[in-house]
Amino acid sequence: MTCSEFTEFLDAYLAGDISPAERDEFKRHLAACKQCVDYLATYERTVKLGKDAFEEPGCDVADKVPEDLVKAILAARNRK
Ligand SMILES: [Zn+2]
Repeated sequence: MTCSEFTEFLDAYLAGDISPAERDEFKRHLAACKQCVDYLATYERTVKLGKDAFEEPGCDVADKVPEDLVKAILAARNRK
């Protein structure tokens, strides 16, 4: 798995939307690639910021995170 494949898989992975074999591939890449560990951490932080923005209407984060992106991320996470 390459880094770009990893990022493409990320949505599906977080949504629990991939096969066990794909999940193994994903974890193997994550164990070997610090860059993608960082990417995953950033992604999860973005999801959390998105949630906080919805929980606290009018806070600064809501202005910085595009609403469509937040909705897409939250939808992906809730699709379990
Ligand atoms: Zn990588």
